[in-house]
Amino acid sequence: MGQVHEIKETRSDVEFLVNNQYTGEKTVVVVDQDKQSLFLDKSIFREQPEACPFLRYNPVDRKSYCTVHRTRPEICRDYGCWRVLILNTAGLRAGRIMYQRTFVSEDADLTRLWMECVDPLDEPDDKLWEARVTRILINTGYSVRK
Ligand code: SF4
Repeated sequence: MGQVHEIKETRSDVEFLVNNQYTGEKTVVVVDQDKQSLFLDKSIFREQPEACPFLRYNPVDRKSYCTVHRTRPEICRDYGCWRVLILNTAGLRAGRIMYQRTFVSEDADLTRLWMECVDPLDEPDDKLWEARVTRILINTGYSVRK
């Protein structure tokens, strides 16, 4: 999403004008108050140089966060933020993988599958892990978009 969202103007330490480089949509975003210290940690860009400028990874709870969640651009409200999108058999969004391995889903079946088959995977290499997860999803009827 770093190729989509460009910081056009820095208005303060926590307020930015964001330009969607594809649609031209402009949004003023403000870093959520409870994520301001997380926002200062820019280490995510060492591993994910093309990550959205507002995405951060919290190593404490091992989750990634949109630090401007309350004021995030419209496209994010419509489609969410993802690295891998998981679709069900009807082609509808069933879940997302954000950052390296953060799983987000409101789909009970997919969540159960994840807990039973993906969580126990012991694969330290991120690429191999993703290939194994993709196989599991496809074998159970899901499809993925990257
Ligand atoms: S949801 Fe937040 S982190 Fe994700 S692309 Fe949108 S602004 Fe960036």
